[in-house]
Amino acid sequence: MSEKENRKMKSAIYPGSFDPLTYGHINIINRGRKIFDRVVVAVAGNMSKNTTFTIDERADIIKELFRGVKGVEVVSFRGLLVNYMSRRGIRTILRGLRTFSDFEYEFQMAMGNKKLAQEVETLFMITEGEYSYISSSIIKEIVALGGSARGMVPPLVEKKLREKLRAERAAVKRGR
Ligand code: ADP
Repeated sequence: MSEKENRKMKSAIYPGSFDPLTYGHINIINRGRKIFDRVVVAVAGNMSKNTTFTIDERADIIKELFRGVKGVEVVSFRGLLVNYMSRRGIRTILRGLRTFSDFEYEFQMAMGNKKLAQEVETLFMITEGEYSYISSSIIKEIVALGGSARGMVPPLVEKKLREKLRAERAAVKRGR
């Protein structure tokens, strides 16, 4: 195996909505860093999901939190993940698994990506106990209802979420 090929194998891409980033995501990134030389956190731009944060806002939060951290690169992409991976020469997708209910969706995505690009492998990392209940949507609900998300997301994320919700409420009021 050439050195170039070898280097490619040591990068993994961790794609997702990250709307917003939680300690559950951070746990996967940090554990991924122990296995791969580089984890490319890839914020997806064209999901069918309606996101709270724009693609740039989601990527900027992650960039700020991982600034200066070796082995983590933050990017955003639109279009098919496998096309982006092919442009970058990355062949491994890293995904996290929380509950059984994650499995079906993850299974379909992994199979779909395999169909699109035979050389691509998806690796799953099981969440660690204390993070198993954390999801971006639960966090948004907690904060929207006035609760604290401490211990579930970094303080920066909670701050940005409060700002966003305040701006959304103000926009609704103005529209009345
Ligand atoms: P997507 O919309 O692509 O599912 P998410 O931001 O919801 O994007 O999740 C990105 C990846 O991180 C998925 O593989 C998801 O299962 C995983 N993930 C999310 N939260 C956790 C968590 N608490 N523990 C482990 N993995 C998680």
